[in-house]
Amino acid sequence: MMDVLLQKMEVYARQHQVPIINAGGREVFRQVLRQKRPHRILEIGTAIGYSALLAVSEGAADAEVITLELDAERAALAAAYIDRSPYAGRIHLRLGDAGVLLPQLPTGFDFVFMDAAKGQYPDYWRKIQPLLSPEAIVAADNVLFRGYVRGADKPPRRYKTIVKRLREYLALVQAAPGFVTDIYENGDGLAVSRRIHV
Ligand code: SAH
Ligand code: MG
Repeated sequence: MMDVLLQKMEVYARQHQVPIINAGGREVFRQVLRQKRPHRILEIGTAIGYSALLAVSEGAADAEVITLELDAERAALAAAYIDRSPYAGRIHLRLGDAGVLLPQLPTGFDFVFMDAAKGQYPDYWRKIQPLLSPEAIVAADNVLFRGYVRGADKPPRRYKTIVKRLREYLALVQAAPGFVTDIYENGDGLAVSRRIHV
């Protein structure tokens, strides 16, 4: 049932150019979720609800998701898709700017999927710190942004700030005490930061 719904969403995303997590990224995303089986998931950037549904279906049996989306039209579409799934009661969609919503959230998330405005990742990272459980994992999508983040080629002007901020994000997570970060090149790049105890 989920497979059919997810496939329909993939078709919609392709036809309407909605940037849902791509096939390469999905593979790592699924793997991390299966290993972790998180209970309380925070998603920053819902789009049409694809990764939220993937996360809840690959999470623990009691997994719940709070997901944040700025665009009302996309959020409405996400709500409609989520209503067609078995997880309607477990995905809580909040409309607004993540930078504003994050400080208002409850604490205790054991998995965060960061996938909204790429230029805001350093800000999101700082704002989620008080919300994380002691063994949280933070997965950030698109961190290699079309090869420009670690590549030798200069990014086009319109991507300059995004690329700069994503480099800043990678430096920030790699230097963060109490975290170990793996950067997967699959898809558009996924940075997986795991909180560790020392
Ligand atoms: N996670 C989704 C894809 C998200 S695409 C998936 O993989 O299925 C990124 C989304 O972030 C877009 O829908 C965009 O509207 C949203 N977004 C951009 N800036 C935002 C902000 N400041 N606050 C909340 N959402 C934002
Ligand atoms: Mg993405």
